[in-house]
Order: sequence, then structure tokens, then C-alpha cells
Amino acid sequence: MLLCGRVHTLTAQEEAEAVYLEGDHIVEVGPREDLQARFPGARRLVFEQITPGLHEAHAHPQLWGLQLESLDLEGLTEPQAVAQRVAEKARTLPPGTWIRGAGYLFQAYPSRELLDAAAPHHPVFLQSRDLHSAWVNHRALKQAGLGAHTPDPPGGRLLRDEVGEPTGYLLENAQTLVSAAMPPPGLAELERGLADLARRGYTAVHHMGWCHYSLAEQLAFSGRLPVRLWWALDRDHWRQVQPGWRGDRLELAAVKFFADGALGSRTAWMVAPYPDGSQGLPLDPPGLIEEEGRAALEAGFGLAVHAIGTQAVERVLEVFGRLSAKKSFRPLRLEHAQHVRDQALPRFRGLAAALSLQPMHLLGDAELVRFHLKGYEHEAFRLRDLWNTGLPVAFGSDAPVMKPLFELNLQAATHHPLNPGQNLAPAEVLWAHTRGAALAAGWPQHGLIRPGAPADLTLWEGGRPVGRVFAGRLEV
Ligand SMILES: [Zn+2]
Repeated sequence: MLLCGRVHTLTAQEEAEAVYLEGDHIVEVGPREDLQARFPGARRLVFEQITPGLHEAHAHPQLWGLQLESLDLEGLTEPQAVAQRVAEKARTLPPGTWIRGAGYLFQAYPSRELLDAAAPHHPVFLQSRDLHSAWVNHRALKQAGLGAHTPDPPGGRLLRDEVGEPTGYLLENAQTLVSAAMPPPGLAELERGLADLARRGYTAVHHMGWCHYSLAEQLAFSGRLPVRLWWALDRDHWRQVQPGWRGDRLELAAVKFFADGALGSRTAWMVAPYPDGSQGLPLDPPGLIEEEGRAALEAGFGLAVHAIGTQAVERVLEVFGRLSAKKSFRPLRLEHAQHVRDQALPRFRGLAAALSLQPMHLLGDAELVRFHLKGYEHEAFRLRDLWNTGLPVAFGSDAPVMKPLFELNLQAATHHPLNPGQNLAPAEVLWAHTRGAALAAGWPQHGLIRPGAPADLTLWEGGRPVGRVFAGRLEV
């Protein structure tokens, strides 16, 4: 197959006019006329642009699959408006069926009464846009067996009224007290989520936890993976697992840790306090990340550590500094790195690390930053500063937190809403979604268009992905 158009090779050659594929590999890259002459019988297709296959470098594809079937509450900031959507949904579902949803962002934590009125006969579980807190109704609390007697779980909190009864708002790990009572998402949701990402032109997805790896193995072993899947295991079960590839589409590659929460739920762990005096919620303690992380590296895994707040980022950098000496062939991944103080920037340099960022969060979070972190706006989403550390930068969406659209990262990263000095160029955004992401995955043969590389390509028209070549197969 001969693909013609503006070929962004992401190699030193930069641009070419055509790329010739055979089987599942790239054979030749070069001037169109040359390749037409050399491969006269090839099927020929023309696209505006051809790039290495896009990576989605931070996603929860099973939850994305679930969300494709759940209430989309994005953009809603009033509990009343959310309750109305729940009431509409309740009318379409048999009593007793769970109503799920996510995407709202409230400035204050609501209590359950509005949801009780909206759906008295359905248990309701709604997550905030960042997935770090949830709003539930009485029926859901009852079904989960929660009441005044229920203690707060480690790393979580149930908001309570004056007599200690849960009000229906759950922070961080307290969400699992209710979600554990819901029918769990399974193989169908994972497969739906991955299929949707493939349709959007992605050829690789970096999975960031909250789904059991055995489901991915089932898809890999039955030849049903529509993307190459880089998989981070939850830290509660990595010790039973052998790292490495399952076929050529699934790699069990890393262990995921959480140093803190997120800004929208005010659980991002900060050096300077929020206006209400709180400083966020540390989750996995740095000492545990270091100890478990060292063991995981020794077993052959990489690490992916979620750190959003300034304090979390600095503590994880300290841990990475000590673990970098281990010289694992896999990069230590810092996921999010959303808020970084000036004095932390020099500490990135020279680490055996990669930075996995989601600029598109800025589109919603810019307002949150101004509200919760007044005076510290310059510390937020330092795309240019982090780029300048010289570490590989990978871009993703954190779907289902945001929709997995390349265009959103492009928009946010090239038009930084808080600080234009942090803007990146479109070519840098493409690099972070292809070559940078491949380096962050520890896949040096990916993310480039050159002879011998896997034939994973994204095809573009009008500046948007319109199709892909995956493992040599054209899908438009
Ligand atoms: Zn995530």
C-alpha cells in the first residue's frame, strides 16, 4: 500500500511525500514519484497528512466505555440541573437499575435530597468531572449498607450531617464504598472504550489503572485488541503478574500509584494551602511509592505515578531521584504534573523519567485554578517549562475525565488560557501524541515513520484524524 500526502515522519528527515507499507511494517519513505516508480503495482491512497499513529497516553478505556453509556454531565455546575437530568433518565429505566453519570463540577458539595427526589426508586452514583468525588442518593447509600456507623475508609471521607449520617457526598476512596455495590464494568465496557478510541484514529492507548488486566489479556489472546495497549496495573495486584508482552498488542508494562487527588475536588496535595486552609489529600505515601516502586522496578515493571499538586509533584520527584539510579529500561512516568513550583523545575532534569500531561484539562481547569489557587496561576500547566526539562513529554486525555480528542490538546496547548508563555507549537503537540508517547511507553521502535517501523499511522483531513492504518490494515 502506498500512502501519499504530507508525511510527518518525526525523524530527522521531517517531511516526505509518500510512505510504502507491506504487511504490518513500513518499507520505504520518500518522494512520491520515486516510490510510485519502485512499487508500481501498489494500491495508492492520498490523504492531506499522514503521521505516526496517535497515542492516547493516559486513559481509562474501560471507564470510557462505561461513560459512553452513562449520563454525560459535562458543563453542569448546578446540582439542580444535574438532578433534572437524573429524573429524566430515571423515567427510562426500570426501578432498581443503577443510574451512573459523571462530568459535573460544583463549587460546594451538595447533599442527597435533590437526588432522592429525582430518583426515589433508582440508586444513583454520579462522579465529579475529575472522578475524585461522587454524589449519591439515599437508595445508593442503603444498597451499599452505609450509615452513621460506617467509618471513613483510608484515603477517603464520607461527608456527614450533625448526627453523623452520610449526606450523600463522597471524597476519593469513599466512592468505592458505593461503587463496590454496583454491577462492575466488564469486558464489554473495555472493548467498547477501546473500539471508540480506535475509531478516533488512535493506534496506541496507555491504560492507567482501575481495570483488571485479565480482561485485556482476554482481548489480546482472542485477537480482539483494536490498538496497542500499554498497561499499568493497579498496585494491589502487580505482584502476582509477570511483566511483558502478551502477543504484539498488549504489554503489561507498569504499576500505577497515586500520590494525591485532583484540583476540582480540592484533594490535589499542595505546598501552599487552598483558601479554606486545607492542603489536599495525600494518597499513597511517598515512602510506600518508593518501597513498592523499587520492588516493581526490580520485577521488570515501570512506574506511573499520579501527582497533581505542587507538594505531590515534589515528593514524587524526590522518590524518582532515588529510583533513577536503578537504570531501568522503562522510564519512571510522572502522570499529570499539573502544578509545579519554580524551585521544583531544575529537579526534573536528568531523571530517567517521562512526563505524561493532559493540556486539555486546562480548558475546564483554568477557571478552577483562578478560583482555588489565586496568586499561583503561573504554577499551573507549565507546558513549555516542562518541555524544556528535556524529558520526553506524552499527551493524553485522561478519558473519561475528558473526551479523547487530539484537537482539545492541540487547542489547549497552543492557546494556554492562563499563561501564553507556556504555549507549545502544533508540531510539539503532535510529537507528544506520537514519538514522545512512544518513548514514555518504552517503545523506541514506535512513533516514527521510517523503514522497519510498525505500520501504525494516523490519516488526516482538514487537520483532524479521519482514519488510521493499524498493523498494516487501512481503516477510514
Ligand atoms: Zn487518570
